[in-house]
Amino acid sequence: MKSTVELTKTVKAKPSRNGLNYFVKTFGCQMNEHDSERIAGLFEYDGMQKASSVDEADVLFVNTCTIRENADDKLYGTLGQLKKWKGERPKRKLLVGGCAAQKDKELVRQRAPWVDVVIGTHNLTNIVNLLNQTEDWGPITEVIEEIQSLPTDAPSIRESEVSAWLTIQIGCNNSCTFCIVPSVRGPEISRRPSDIVNEAKAMVASGVKEITLLGQNVNSYGRDLKINGSSKPYFTELLTELNEVEDLKRIRFTSPHPKDFKEHTLQAVNELSKVSKQIHMPLQSGSNKILRNMQRGYTQEKYMEKLYLAKETIADVSLTTDIIVGFPGETDKDFEETLKVIREGKFDAVYMFKFSPRPGTKANYMKDDFVEKAIIDSRFMELKHLQTEISHQRYKRFIGTQQDLLIEKYSKKTDEFLSGKIDGGQTTHISSETVQIGDYIKVKITDATPFALTAVPV
Ligand code: SF4
Repeated sequence: MKSTVELTKTVKAKPSRNGLNYFVKTFGCQMNEHDSERIAGLFEYDGMQKASSVDEADVLFVNTCTIRENADDKLYGTLGQLKKWKGERPKRKLLVGGCAAQKDKELVRQRAPWVDVVIGTHNLTNIVNLLNQTEDWGPITEVIEEIQSLPTDAPSIRESEVSAWLTIQIGCNNSCTFCIVPSVRGPEISRRPSDIVNEAKAMVASGVKEITLLGQNVNSYGRDLKINGSSKPYFTELLTELNEVEDLKRIRFTSPHPKDFKEHTLQAVNELSKVSKQIHMPLQSGSNKILRNMQRGYTQEKYMEKLYLAKETIADVSLTTDIIVGFPGETDKDFEETLKVIREGKFDAVYMFKFSPRPGTKANYMKDDFVEKAIIDSRFMELKHLQTEISHQRYKRFIGTQQDLLIEKYSKKTDEFLSGKIDGGQTTHISSETVQIGDYIKVKITDATPFALTAVPV
């Protein structure tokens, strides 16, 4: 185990922080959101309660990301603003974790010396110990390079009472040139199926109705477990086991890798009653040249084969994808290849990102091929307009149909509506007069925009 600075020193008896308030500020992906739920759980186990804002917090955890646009600027900008927050009450504790902490390590505290704890992605469960140590030892950085343990039964506090993340795997064995994940999260490690099923049962016992299996590359789950001496993929088997969990209503998963989709997994998605008929297949680019430079491990043709296999195997599948616009070297012709796949693929939704270089990735060194910002912006808008039209057409197919809706929360805009998701993952709004959070009900879809549906109870 390596550390940038000193590792955990003698830990004194756990001082409970009863009465103190914590706040967790999260940037980035679902993996970070789920890590934040665990951090919240550990803080509450230590006696703290959730503050309603950063201003009310005694302990603030900033869970950082390196993936999104200008992530580094945003992080250090945020930490700069928090200098005043810390200065107002010096006993406040500022903690920084997540991918940027793993990547920058001690640099975080060099650039923001008011940070009390910098903690890596592999040792989050040690957060309360580190917080304790700052009382005696002052600021500390603990970033281990090797994964020592998988997420286990550490307590977590979920944002939703009815829908929960369930980590099945951490790390990634791929090496996409735009992505920092393999270097900050390490190689793939799968949790034991029995641990996952037990955690799912415990979640259901606490009121959860829907779980989303979480990993960087979920459909390669289990390759490292070598159960019975074999290294065959176990994702299909895992879905089958989870489908048996009593009172669990729905199972989702994210993110799979297109190259690792197997026919038997798609068949299982079609046949298992609780598994959502939604497949996220991140394309990133339609150009074979760009896919090669991204080191994605498939061509446009191979991707389309998998896409059509999913459409043929799963009745009325809802497909979604990710696109990076303006990867280094992307020409108009390359971008046209992306548009071609988008037109043919008829995705329900496309998550679009403008390329921006990330320190620590190979793409960061492709400076000679960077695409002008104005060109990226204009391609992004073209893709957005195209997909908005396609999404609207796709969403309209639900009008007049009956769907199963899990109601998760109040609508962001008004308390008059609650919202949740139907099986295909489409956000659906419904009047709050007749239903409540946690209901899993049959509804009739009455209207559709490119981004959401409206429903009434049947
Ligand atoms: S598959 Fe590629 S994009 Fe996804 S986490 Fe692994 S390296 Fe990153």
